[in-house]
Amino acid sequence: MKILVADDDRFSRLVLSRTLRFWGYEVEEAADGRAAVEALSRSDGPCLGIIDWMMPQLDGPEVCRQVRAANAEPYRYLMLLTSRSRREDLVEGLNSGADEYLSKPFDPLELQARLRIGRRLLDLQNQLIEARDALHRQATRDGLTGLLNRTAIIDALQEEQARASRRLSGLGVLVADLDHFKRVNDTWGHLAGDAVLRESARRMADVLRPYDRIGRYGGEEFLIVLPDCTRQVTLDVGERIRTALSSEPLLADGSAVSVTVSIGACWADGKPFGDELVRNADDALYVAKRSGRNRVVMEAEAPTESVRVAG
Ligand code: GH3
Ligand code: MG
Ligand code: MG
Repeated sequence: MKILVADDDRFSRLVLSRTLRFWGYEVEEAADGRAAVEALSRSDGPCLGIIDWMMPQLDGPEVCRQVRAANAEPYRYLMLLTSRSRREDLVEGLNSGADEYLSKPFDPLELQARLRIGRRLLDLQNQLIEARDALHRQATRDGLTGLLNRTAIIDALQEEQARASRRLSGLGVLVADLDHFKRVNDTWGHLAGDAVLRESARRMADVLRPYDRIGRYGGEEFLIVLPDCTRQVTLDVGERIRTALSSEPLLADGSAVSVTVSIGACWADGKPFGDELVRNADDALYVAKRSGRNRVVMEAEAPTESVRVAG
C-alpha cells in the first residue's frame, strides 16, 4: 500500500518515510499542501495520507477539505500530524475531513495501530466499491453478450436524444436483427446459438466509435445509438455492421456458422424525438426483412436510400 507523507520539514519527512518504508509501505512525499492535494487527487495516488498541519501554500486542514471536496474514489484515509494538542485544534482538524489526528513527534506503536485502522477502513471501502460496481454491471449489462441490456440501452437513447436536442446535432438509430436465427439454433444447437450471439455482439461493437452505444434489445435484436452523426454516417455504420457479420463465418462452439443481419436505420436532427426514432427504425427493419434480408434500410422518408443487397 502506498502512503503519502506531506511535511514541509525535510527531516520530519525523512524520519517518517523511512519508518513507513521499514514497515513495508510504499511512500510518496510532498513538501507542501498543494503537492499533497495533487498526489491525493490522482486516480492512482496514495489512498492514505499523513499530513502535517503547518505547511506552506495550504495547511493540513485545507488539504483535507480540498481532497474531500474532490470526492476522490477510492476513499482517501487522511491523518493529520501535528504538535498542536488543544481540544479546539483536534475538533478543527476532524471537521476539515481528517479521519485521524496524531500528535507529533509520532509514537511508532500508536502510528502502527492507527495505520491498521486506516487499512481496515480502506479494505472495507474497496469491498463496498467492488460490490456496488458489480451490482451496477448486473443491472445494466446483458449477461450473455456483455452489451448494455434493454433497459440501459433505452436509457442511453433517451440521454442521447436530450443531448442532441440541446446541441441541435444529428442522431442515428439502428435496429439490427440476425437473419433466420431460429435456423441457427435448430441446426447447430442452442449453445452454438448463444456463441453466435456473443460473437455477433463483439463484431458489431468493434466497428463502432467509442461514444456510440450498443445494447441487446431483444433475443437476437440489437439497438445501436449513434450520437452526433449525419444520415449518411448512420447508413455507413449500418453497412459496416452488416459486413462485419457476413464477411466471414463465426466460430461458434466449434462450428463455423454463417450469419447475416438485417438493419433498420433512422436519423433525425435537433427536434424533440420521442419514441418515433426506434419505431421508424423498426419499420425500416421490417422492410429490410421483407425485401430479402442481409441489408440496411433507411426509414421510409427516403426509401431510395436502401443500400446494397449482398449475395
Ligand atoms: P428473421 O430473419 O425473420 O429475424 O428470423 P429469426 O429466426 O431470426 O426470427 P425469430 O424471431 O422467428 O426467431 C428468433 C430466434 O432467436 C428464436 C429464439 O429461440 C432465438 N433466441 C432468442 N434469444 C436467444 C438466446 O439468448 N440464445 C439463443 N441461442 N437463441 C435465442
Ligand atoms: Mg431474427
Ligand atoms: Mg427478432
